[in-house]
Amino acid sequence: MFLTVLGRHGPYPRPGGACSGYFIEDGPTRVLVDCGSGVLSRLMEHVHPAHLDAIVLSHLHFDHCSDLLVMRYALDQQDVREGEEKRRVPLYTPAEPFETLKTITTGALFFQHTVKGGDELQIGNLHFSFVPMAHPVPTNGMRITGADGATLFFTGDTKPYPGMEVGAMGADALLADSCFVDEAQTGPHLNAKEACALARNAGVKTLYLTHLWGKYDTEEAMKKEIDFSPAFVVKERGKYCI
Ligand SMILES: [Zn+2]
Ligand SMILES: [Zn+2]
Repeated sequence: MFLTVLGRHGPYPRPGGACSGYFIEDGPTRVLVDCGSGVLSRLMEHVHPAHLDAIVLSHLHFDHCSDLLVMRYALDQQDVREGEEKRRVPLYTPAEPFETLKTITTGALFFQHTVKGGDELQIGNLHFSFVPMAHPVPTNGMRITGADGATLFFTGDTKPYPGMEVGAMGADALLADSCFVDEAQTGPHLNAKEACALARNAGVKTLYLTHLWGKYDTEEAMKKEIDFSPAFVVKERGKYCI
């Protein structure tokens, strides 16, 4: 399984950056997880969205879904041969906020499905298990298992909560919301130390820190807070073998 980071910022990007977006490949299977600001153009360096097997959104905050509004045009204007129909892309999201979901999907070429914590899904080579996280809107963490058994747990956005390590237990890779830098910052996100604690408690092999705060250049400051090894702050367009 390969993870390509299309965007690593939230809730808005740094100059030249993009918000949450992760392109997951396993053999012929291609899935986009989250689609924030700036993700569509980077996705199209790899694949036209019409040829994705699915799009899975952790939640419906705009830094995780806003580029779907523009993707609608790309899907609507896709090239098709005579007699062929335009491809519609399966889209898996939480059910709320309903108004956001309605805006994204109205008139769009998506097959929209609602998923919640406890749901399971097989998309080609990839198996998804969804876990409810603690965030102001319904948010699904997801454990993604590839055909060879490799596992990636993506937290989406979340603050710490008791038992949050259960879904990530023993994963090969933890892709963790690390919006805040240090312990003085609390809110609806993890800070770098909390992401490290989650990695330790879950016994994961490797920690990948993402969802960097767009307000400051947090990467260097965050590195001082990391007390788990191996841990990496994900790179823009970084490609990782899980
Ligand atoms: Zn976010
Ligand atoms: Zn959020």
